[in-house]
Amino acid sequence: MKILVAVKQVAALDEDFTIRADGRDINPDFLIRDLNEWDDFSLEEAVKIKESAAAPVEVIAVTVGTDAADEALRKCLAKGADRAIRVWDDAVEGSDPIAIARILAAVARKEQPDLLFAGVQSSDQSFAATGIATAALLDWPHAAVVNQLTYTPGAKTALLRRELEAGVAHVVQIQVPAVLTIQLGINTPRYASLRSIKQAAAKPVELLTLDALGLSAADVGEAGSLSRVRRMYMPTKGRAQLIEGSSSEQAQRLAAIIREFKGEAA
Ligand code: AMP
Repeated sequence: MKILVAVKQVAALDEDFTIRADGRDINPDFLIRDLNEWDDFSLEEAVKIKESAAAPVEVIAVTVGTDAADEALRKCLAKGADRAIRVWDDAVEGSDPIAIARILAAVARKEQPDLLFAGVQSSDQSFAATGIATAALLDWPHAAVVNQLTYTPGAKTALLRRELEAGVAHVVQIQVPAVLTIQLGINTPRYASLRSIKQAAAKPVELLTLDALGLSAADVGEAGSLSRVRRMYMPTKGRAQLIEGSSSEQAQRLAAIIREFKGEAA
């Protein structure tokens, strides 16, 4: 039995940062990289299933990213993943969540896992889309925002709890293979021991090309994406104002502000 865990090396902003010259992303010099927090929980959930199973379970961490993402994969290996796969090609640059999902779906077709875990969202881009898009491309059942899971390896279904609005829970039985997006708090992720970190450093990261996955440059990057970032910017702050005075003074001021916004003379 196999569990494929999609993990992303996310970027957190340094205190002072600038936007890249093309205006579409943060200047990489100001980014601190780490494993996406949600993915830490989904990896732990997969390792927990492995540890409590009677039959062998293989946990595979997969990422789509440059060699900088190896660090996130090594963290997964140190925390109990058996294998780590990284997919990259320069053509992948600029991929939207659908294009990333196309790659993850191709890895899933190759590896044939029983379960595919993704995080509910990535902390840097918050698309909250990649896992579900992967399920759609695979035509597999899916459940989003899973905060409790019971699965016995070999079983045809898994039982899970989803977190809904206002603390309401949804208990769902789902056929495997399935894609689950895992919510924070589903478990307590372990810390990797120094020994396991050292062992993980010596383990290989399997590199997969688009070719090996039956994909071409046209399937990924901006060519294979249905959306693209046009601009990233910091909205100007301090535009709120308190209008004081009598009702008629307030109404006059409000009307003047609306005229200003419409570009009409005061
Ligand atoms: P997002 O849709 O970007 O909010 O990310 C949700 C989840 O999709 C993450 O928690 C990961 O499990 C997965 N994911 C997103 N981007 C990647 C990537 N580049 N490589 C592997 N998994 C990813």
